[in-house]
Amino acid sequence: AKDAGRNNYQFYTPSLSKRTPAFLTLEKSLRYALEREEFMLYYQPRVNIITGEITGMEALLRWQHPEMGLVAPNIFIPLAEESGLIVPIGEWVIRTACKQNKAWQDAGFPPLTVAVNLSPKQFRQPNLVDTLTSILQETGLDPKFLDLEITESTAIEDLDFTRTVLYNLRQMGVYLSIDDFGTGHSSLSRLQQLPLHHLKIDKSFIQDLTTDQKVAHIVKAIVVLGQSLGLKLTAEGVEKQEELDFLKSINCEDVQGYLFYRPLAVQKITELLQKGQL
Ligand code: C2E
Ligand code: CA
Ligand code: CA
Ligand code: CA
Repeated sequence: AKDAGRNNYQFYTPSLSKRTPAFLTLEKSLRYALEREEFMLYYQPRVNIITGEITGMEALLRWQHPEMGLVAPNIFIPLAEESGLIVPIGEWVIRTACKQNKAWQDAGFPPLTVAVNLSPKQFRQPNLVDTLTSILQETGLDPKFLDLEITESTAIEDLDFTRTVLYNLRQMGVYLSIDDFGTGHSSLSRLQQLPLHHLKIDKSFIQDLTTDQKVAHIVKAIVVLGQSLGLKLTAEGVEKQEELDFLKSINCEDVQGYLFYRPLAVQKITELLQKGQL
C-alpha cells in the first residue's frame, strides 16, 4: 500500500488478517534479533557465463530464530521495513559484508565485489552516505568492492531523488546495481539517466525464459539495450542448462543461480576459495 504520509515512501502494510499472534510474536523477536546475534549472512557467487569465473557475490540475510528455526528474508524483511528495524539491521548487513570481504582479501584470495541489498527505507536515510563512508573507513575495504543493490521499484519511486543519491554514492567509488529489473514496470530509457554500473534481470523472467517466447524476446531486448547503455548484466535465478544456453546465445555476461551456486555460509565460501574453486 502506498502511504503518502509523513515520509513519502512506500510502506509494507500487512493486511489485518496477517496480524495474527504468531505474526506479532515474530515482530517482537525481530527487535531483539540483532543484540542476540541471530542474524548471519550467506553469500551467493555470480559467474561469468563465458569464462566460468566468479565476478562477485551477493550477501543474503538469514535469521536463525531460537525456536522457529531459519526464517526466510521474504517474511522478516517486510516486517523489518515496516517497523523501521531495517535501518539498524541493514547497517549490520553492510558492516558485516564489508568486514568479511576485507578478511577474504587480507587472506590473499582474489578480490571480489560483494553486493548488499538496500531496502527502500535504507536508501532514503539522509545519513546513508555518512554511514557507508564510516563503515568503509572502519573496515578498510576499498569502496569499489562494495556493490549496492537497489530494486527497480525503489529507484523509480522518485527518480530525481534517486539520481542525487546515486551520484553521491558514485562519488564515493562504490559499485551500483539495479536489482529485480523488469518487475518495476519502468523502462531502460528512464533508468538511463542514473549513474549505474549493473543491471540484474529479475528471476521471474528467467523462470519463464524457455517456455514463453515473449519472455525470451523481452530478456534479449533488456540485454541488448542494457549493453548499449554500458551496463553489465546479470541474469538471476538461473536453474537450468537450457536457460544458461539461451543466455549465452544472447551474450548476457553474468549469471547467478542454483545451477552454479546456492547462497552459502561463510565457512563454505572460504573452503571453495581455499581450494581455488572460486
Ligand atoms: P533478491 O535480492 O532478489 O535475492 C535473490 C534471491 O533469489 C535470494 O533469495 C536467493 O537465494 C534467490 N535465488 C538465487 N538463485 C536462485 C535460483 O536459481 N532459483 C531461485 N528460485 N531462487 C534463487 P533469499 O536469500 O531468500 O532473499 C529473498 C529476498 O530478500 C532478496 O531477493 C532481497 O529482496 C531480500 N533480502 C535478502 N537479504 C537482504 C538484506 O540483507 N537486506 C534487504 N533489504 N533485503 C534482503
Ligand atoms: Ca538482490
Ligand atoms: Ca533480485
Ligand atoms: Ca527481490
